[in-house]
Amino acid sequence: MRTAAAGAGEHGALAHNYHPLPVTIATAEGSWVTDTGGRRYLDLLAGYSALNFGHRHPTLVDAAARQLGRVTLTSRAFDHDLLDPFADALAALVGPLTTGGAEGGPGTAVLPMNTGAEAVETAIKTARKWGYDVRGIAPGEATIVVASGNFHGRTTTVVSFSDDPDARDGFGPYTPGFRVVPFGDVDAVAAAIDDTTVAVLMEPIQGESGVVVPPDGFWPALRALTAERDVLLVADEIQSGLGRTGTTLACELWDVRPDLVTLGKALGGGILPVSAVVGRRDVLDVLTPGTHGSTFGGNPLACAVGLAVVELLGSGEPQAAARALGSSFHARLAGLVETDLLDGVRGVGLWAGLDLDPARGTGRDLCEALLSRGVLAKDTHGSTIRLAPPLTISADDLETGLSALENALTALAHDR
Ligand code: PLP
Repeated sequence: MRTAAAGAGEHGALAHNYHPLPVTIATAEGSWVTDTGGRRYLDLLAGYSALNFGHRHPTLVDAAARQLGRVTLTSRAFDHDLLDPFADALAALVGPLTTGGAEGGPGTAVLPMNTGAEAVETAIKTARKWGYDVRGIAPGEATIVVASGNFHGRTTTVVSFSDDPDARDGFGPYTPGFRVVPFGDVDAVAAAIDDTTVAVLMEPIQGESGVVVPPDGFWPALRALTAERDVLLVADEIQSGLGRTGTTLACELWDVRPDLVTLGKALGGGILPVSAVVGRRDVLDVLTPGTHGSTFGGNPLACAVGLAVVELLGSGEPQAAARALGSSFHARLAGLVETDLLDGVRGVGLWAGLDLDPARGTGRDLCEALLSRGVLAKDTHGSTIRLAPPLTISADDLETGLSALENALTALAHDR
């Protein structure tokens, strides 16, 4: 819990744009964190999937430490010796990107950025420029189809197409050019596409919305539709990607290859922000020197850590762990629905959205009950919480977390 030096809600100079749970973390290792009072907690949030490999994974910390002793920043005014290795390795990990049979292969390109929102902005800019340069859309007319319930970050353009009032209200004027359709409804996407449409941008599985998994046929139908209409399919895999669902990209669950993929969070190994747009070379080539960039994007430290992350995923072990542990995880959670402790559960791999009966409490109540039992999780909306344990968690630790969850849910059920 919080120490006297930093009491719950007491933050001095800090801005109030978050409402964290009352715990002040001092150290962390693997799936566990320790607070300033020495109490340990099992981390079942894992930095909203930024800590897919747990806290301070030794391989990733080694890669960062080695790079700290070499060079950390060059800016993109100069090349450095890890930029190509990182980009090539990430392109190889993601593999060929195809549309309607056109081969990406070695033509898969990588544009490194820093935060997730920047990667999404980069994908939006790329899609628009592709629309003007390649499709010949009239200047300023490009449209992008997005999903209701989306979460793609916090920039002014990105919140312009959010339908979450907390994220959007009060931040206008908004960037035009987005059409919001119900998530999972391919007919609605088809109806929203017209001659001005350059892209469909969606999360394969909506994380912030509460791990919402679309119907099985949705992504394949989206792929077929966008290929047929010559519209780019952009998958925001910032939260769903890099092993979380048991595959490198969540899109692989449905055998779908998008045209552009945004990656972030876990790409920085929980050490620093690293994001990227990975996409068809012919599409990313619409960006030419001077048209887009970032001082820190692709910096040596980021590339060192990102390369180590890609190598970890290249072994296939994190994905296999998410699949193996994911099936017992979901079986156990389904049991909590059967015994009426939960209203519903969604998810794939080591990722789940849990709905609590609102009469028994809010998501926040459940997270506080978990916190007092030594487990970290975070509510998303209303009575929904999200679990995203590190993919490196042991089966025993996962069971410890799930027992605490059952215990917390039982207590909430009895209190009402
Ligand atoms: N896209 C998705 C799907 C996300 O879940 C998030 C963050 O939660 C973002 C984009 C934004 O990433 P960042 O917070 O690094 O800007």
